[in-house]
Parts: sequence; C-alpha cells; structure tokens
Amino acid sequence: MTSLADRMSRFLRADVQGMHGYAVQPSAGMVKVDTMENPFQLPQHLRAELGARLADVALNRYPAERGDVLRAELARHAQMPDGNNIMLGNGSDELISLLTLAADVPGNVVLAPLPGFVMYEMSAKLQGLKFVGVPTTADFQLDGPAMLAAIREHQPALVWLAFPNNPTASLWDDDVIEAIIEASPGLVVMDEAYQPFASRDSLDRLKRHDHVLLMRTMSKFGLAGVRIGYLIGRNAVIAEIDKLRPPFNISVLNCEAALFALEHADEYAHQAEIIRAERTRITTALSALPGLTPFPSEANMVLVRVPDAARVFAGMKARKVLIKNVSGLHPLLANCLRITVGTPEENTQMLAALTAALNDLN
Ligand code: PMP
Repeated sequence: MTSLADRMSRFLRADVQGMHGYAVQPSAGMVKVDTMENPFQLPQHLRAELGARLADVALNRYPAERGDVLRAELARHAQMPDGNNIMLGNGSDELISLLTLAADVPGNVVLAPLPGFVMYEMSAKLQGLKFVGVPTTADFQLDGPAMLAAIREHQPALVWLAFPNNPTASLWDDDVIEAIIEASPGLVVMDEAYQPFASRDSLDRLKRHDHVLLMRTMSKFGLAGVRIGYLIGRNAVIAEIDKLRPPFNISVLNCEAALFALEHADEYAHQAEIIRAERTRITTALSALPGLTPFPSEANMVLVRVPDAARVFAGMKARKVLIKNVSGLHPLLANCLRITVGTPEENTQMLAALTAALNDLN
C-alpha cells in the first residue's frame, strides 16, 4: 500500500509543500483592524433591498449576461469605451495569478518595488518565474534610479506598481512612474486596490499608454466578502488575458451584489469620506505618542514604526485588538505595524490598546 505521504511527495510539487500559504489571522471576538476592510455595512434598508434583489437571481443558470452588464458598468465608472475593456476576477488576487500565468514564458521576469503586496512575488514564484524586488527608499518612495536600472537589466514581462502601495500606504511620484512606464518593455500594472482613499489615480496614464493596465477591486470599497476585482485596459490585451480566466469565475450572487453596490456608489463614497477623516485622526494621535513614527497614508491603513513591534502587537492582541505586524516582511519594515482604519469607535479602542501596550514596554 502506497502511503498518502508517498503519493504526495511523488506527485505534488515539492516547492509548494515547502512553502507557507497566505496567512489569515484568527479574529473572532477581536476589534478587527488587520486587513483593510471597509468597517461599515450598508444601512439596514439597503441591505433589505439587496436581499430582495438576490432572492430573484437565477441560481439555476451559469453566470453570463449579468457579468456583461457589470463589465459595462465598470467601464462606465472608469471612463472606458465599453465592457470589452474590463476583465473580471474573483478578487484582484485571481487577476494577479492570471496575469502572471499569461506572462509564463520561460526566462520571463516579474518586477515590483519592495516592500509591496506579497501576492506579486508569490504568484511569480508559483508560476516558476523569476521575481525581482527593488527596495524603496527608507521613507517608502520609489527609488527611481534603482527601478530603472533593474528594468534595463532584467527586461521584465510584468511590472507591478501598487498605487497606493500595501503595506506602506504610499503613493508613488508621477514622474518616476512615467519614466518606469516608458522604460518597461512589457506590461505595467497599476494596482489601485486603495483608490477610494487616494488623492491621485492612473486613469489618465491608462489613456496615454497602451501597455498600462489598471487593476481595481471592490474589496476596499466595501465588498471584500463579495470578491470582485477587475482589470482595465485595451481590448486587445484584455481579450488575450481573459482566455486564461476559468469560465464562470464570478458567481451570479457576487455579480448582482456588485451591481447593487455601484447603484449606491454615493453611500460608499460617504463611508470612504469618514474613513479618510478617521485616518487623519489616527495619524495625528499616533504622532503624539512617544517613540512612534506614523508614515503618511493615502489608503485605509496607517503604517507606524514602534519601539518593539512584536511586543506592541502582542499587547494589543491581549487587549482584543488585531492589527498586522509587518516587520518581518522586509528589512525596511523593521518594527513596523500596519493598522487598518476602522469605525470611529474601533479606532478609539485601537488607540487605547496601543497606548496601554506601549506602557507595558516601560
Ligand atoms: N492589491 C493590493 C495592493 C492589495 O493590498 C490587495 C489585498 N489586500 C489586493 C490587491 C487583493 O485584493 P482583492 O483580492 O480583495 O481584490
């Protein structure tokens, strides 16, 4: 009898067996400010309306026509000609995988600034592509000369620029982005997951350069549980990458919920406004705490350097506040914690827990 362990070691990828999957922290009973979710639900009357809409969705049919309606709607919101400029993903995580798969030619390189969103590197490695990470400056800006030198040397098939970046919450300099786009031989993807909270975006860049793609998600907008990411670009390139999409990857329920959310975009814009105001409040409060350095944020998170990240994280967790300790992700993030902006009440609880955890250090 062959043991299961033998079967796995013979037939499953050894590199995958040796790696860690994407970690999700347990959060039951906690103030959950660790994953950049929008902390607000829709008001009760809109939830009831959405419930009625979902009750009428034809669950017996494969998703098709409503996906086309959603693509057309998203194109309109992004000021693009039509739905053929949009590809839907089950979250932008799926789009990162599919774009990497599309670039899976032996010898191809994927490049991104670091620290950055971990899935660019993970997807590249899973696909057997070489990943080149270019360190940012110490204050988390793009190192223009280093980026351009790396692009010249490695001729990347894909360049990822998260705009704003995760976990640093920074926006990159427009001139440096422009130089990167001009120097890049392959595709440049502007990942605008945090666009609802940012002061600048890439719609104009998208119009000016045919090798630029824009990736957005409805997750941070307020639909993290619904899983809708989308890629915006020229028909020709979107059609090519779309061939790799699993058929019917977006559930009819997700699609209907996303359409409903777009119809109520004003409500989400109002929530984003509260989140931006709370971000300012948190950043000011963090600056006033001794020994803390918060970095400027253009997203719904604040990166802060503390005297001892592991102990402060543990102290906050003991007080039922869950944030993310990102200090192990990259040397530039030494002693850095990432705090998602929550509701005003959650933020007050977070600040109290942080203050108490800092007092524990003395
Ligand atoms: N891009 C960035 C920069 C992110 O931070 C995240 C998630 N935190 C994603 C993409 C993936 O988002 P989703 O799959 O929920 O669309």
